[in-house]
Amino acid sequence: MGPKPCWELGIMSSHTRIILVDRDHPDPEIVADAAFVIRQGGLVAFATETVYGLGANATDPSAVAKIYAAKGRPAFNPLIVHTDTIERARSCVIDWDDRAERLATKFWPGPLTLVLPRSKLIPDLTAGGLSTVGVRIPAPAIARALINAADCPIAAPSANRSNRISPTQASHVHDDLNGRIDLILDSGPTTVGLESTVLDLVSDRPRILRPGSVLRDQICETLGIEIEEFDPNRESARPVSPGNLPIHYAPHTPCILIKPSELPQIDLSNCALIQFGPGQAETVGKVGLNFHLLDHCQAGRELYATLHLCDQAHVRMILIVTPPEGPEWVAVRDRVTRASTPFSRKVAADLKA
Ligand code: AMP
Ligand code: MG
Repeated sequence: MGPKPCWELGIMSSHTRIILVDRDHPDPEIVADAAFVIRQGGLVAFATETVYGLGANATDPSAVAKIYAAKGRPAFNPLIVHTDTIERARSCVIDWDDRAERLATKFWPGPLTLVLPRSKLIPDLTAGGLSTVGVRIPAPAIARALINAADCPIAAPSANRSNRISPTQASHVHDDLNGRIDLILDSGPTTVGLESTVLDLVSDRPRILRPGSVLRDQICETLGIEIEEFDPNRESARPVSPGNLPIHYAPHTPCILIKPSELPQIDLSNCALIQFGPGQAETVGKVGLNFHLLDHCQAGRELYATLHLCDQAHVRMILIVTPPEGPEWVAVRDRVTRASTPFSRKVAADLKA
């Protein structure tokens, strides 16, 4: 049994077409249909392993302009370009060096984006006006088949309105973008759930611009050098990586980051509580919704769907207990930090019983 199509969930669109397609063995006719939309300069949302991407022909500025318009995304925020082969990725960049070759061989297809100086194939708009471009090969067969059939690199930011929670299911895309895009390919929930690790390879010292499920240690080991841990406060990360804006992955509902010790100070009625990590979750009184994501894989996979659920449930407040320390939790910590504001005396007063 495959995933349930959106129309069985009662959310069929009158504007945007939604087609169910197997993630691992996509029907070639459906792929050809979607590739035709891309070739015509249209927008197709499809599953990658990280989140659903909103795809357009990366080499066509008027197609790419539609991505910015549909998302309401500022034009200075660069798009990640997805390809099906290393050869096509190389055609998007210049200076493909030994480091890029090693990382691509090791981690592609997979959730690692490499930022390199861009070639003439990639227009200004795709790169947000930068001289560089981020490229990667996504893992699911559906994503690679679409790129292969369209026969062009596909620019695909997350398929959500700018600054909202990223979509990990086709229904999330539909809720945010129905009527604004041509087609959604529904291949069920994504498997990784958090956006890719973005690695800047432009200078001699590679830098992590956005943490993801490919970890710093794995990159260091592959390159045989030490690189700095991701630092959200590093000013220099900001202009080249607007994904690092402080509030970027936010739910509609007010969302507060708290320490376990702060829990007893809070009236949890009609709130959602999200806790992470192995071991016993804090037991709490009359909470509205209670989630416990046990390990970093489950947390990555389910975080955004959990936040979407909390929004739909119209709880008063989402309280996220700070995830554990440890390198495998860096990406989850980064996203929950950007989705929330820290607990403060004012918040405590607002939340008092
Ligand atoms: P999204 O499209 O929302 O998944 O986010 C893509 C993010 O990747 C951007 O917001 C940037 O943080 C990062 N990115 C993409 N291309 C580049 C680039 N050329 N230079 C630096 N960061 C990039
Ligand atoms: Mg995004």
